[in-house]
Amino acid sequence: MLITNHVLSGALVGRAAPGPVSAFALGVASHFAIDTVPHWGDDRIFLQVAVPDGLVGLGAMAWVWRTTEASARVRVLAGMAGACLPDADKPSTLFFGRSPFPAAVDEWHRGIQRESVRRLPQEFAVAALGVLVVRRLSRAAGRRAARPTSSG
Ligand SMILES: [Zn+2]
Repeated sequence: MLITNHVLSGALVGRAAPGPVSAFALGVASHFAIDTVPHWGDDRIFLQVAVPDGLVGLGAMAWVWRTTEASARVRVLAGMAGACLPDADKPSTLFFGRSPFPAAVDEWHRGIQRESVRRLPQEFAVAALGVLVVRRLSRAAGRRAARPTSSG
């Protein structure tokens, strides 16, 4: 699964969570749940896709942060961070030669993947849908926040 899609789903989980701690925990859970859904994966070109995906994912986090109303920003950020954390083994192994997680966790994480080399278009479609849903919810929340209160 592209990290960008974990970022976007983490943003949605964070928005739905009552606070930052639950948002982070639900973000981590969402990562593993989403990894069980059939998705793209191709070891032959993994790095060629992972590096731009990581940069796009970071850009997506910045965009979500900027477009989220102030009252929800911390829990939305916590949801995105939790949703990305389980894939920290990939850059850590690349740069430091080892995963930060116990081997049993990494093995289980690899075991739940249902990857196909043919599903990259599906990843892009999911990302586009994620952007639309995140943007719509942020705009709706922004409109609610801007509305004058009746308690006047
Ligand atoms: Zn994963």
